[in-house]
Amino acid sequence: MRRTAGRNDDSGIVAAVTGLPIRYTLTQEHGLPGQVDDVTPAPQRVIKMSEAVAQDIVRDIVARGLSVGDRLPPEAAMVSEYGVSRESLREALRILEVQGLIVIRRGPGGGPVVSGIDPRNLARTSALYFHLSGANYDELFETWQSVEPILAQKVAHAPDRRLVREALAPYLEAFAPDVTQQHLVSTANAFHAVIAELSHNRVLTLIVQAVSHIVNDQVLSDFDPVLAAGQIGHDHEEIAKAIVDGRASKARRLMEEHIVHITDAYRASFPDRVLSLVEWR
Ligand SMILES: [Zn+2]
Repeated sequence: MRRTAGRNDDSGIVAAVTGLPIRYTLTQEHGLPGQVDDVTPAPQRVIKMSEAVAQDIVRDIVARGLSVGDRLPPEAAMVSEYGVSRESLREALRILEVQGLIVIRRGPGGGPVVSGIDPRNLARTSALYFHLSGANYDELFETWQSVEPILAQKVAHAPDRRLVREALAPYLEAFAPDVTQQHLVSTANAFHAVIAELSHNRVLTLIVQAVSHIVNDQVLSDFDPVLAAGQIGHDHEEIAKAIVDGRASKARRLMEEHIVHITDAYRASFPDRVLSLVEWR
């Protein structure tokens, strides 16, 4: 696909620009018929050439079924394929690298390589937006408590019982008494990630994983691992049992209680921090 002009000029692609603090506006194109007078037209966002190329590269990654570790074509081939300058192509690749979607290997034999979908990248981007919007940990906790119990309930109903049983087997045991902080955080992350992945809803999976990564990395990491491990290990074990047994309402309730245990403990230990801005790390 050869590009000859900026596509904001001819394709009519616009996005709502909300600015900060958050304002929700609709563009006329997205307004409902007959309601266009009720909305504030947002300024058109100019999509740079490099961004348009980045979008094309992503489309091609998906269309060609590329997966983790697959190489993208060499720079000269991509310059020709996308019909852009080398600078625009490099900027496009840099955009994708910052998003964690590709890794650019330097040196001889290097080049862009496709990365997996890592929810930590979504967590990082989400944390940036939460921080800029003025969101605090209390709001993060409320979101977590609203969403993850639904996932636990859904997984308890999941049809492939063998898969659920095998995936949750490691969490049917308590933590060792001398658990380290790092082990606690990585195991807790893994438990919540497994439940998210078993839900068979990719949107819910990614949203919950983004939130729970922020919670685990920024909240759980402040707790004393030995004190926290007892409660967390016990909660995880009970939730895993309820899910494996197909007891959906119980799984939902236990997950909600588990989140309340963690968030209440955080509120009690760090009362000043609950209302502080979610950090961008
Ligand atoms: Zn947990």
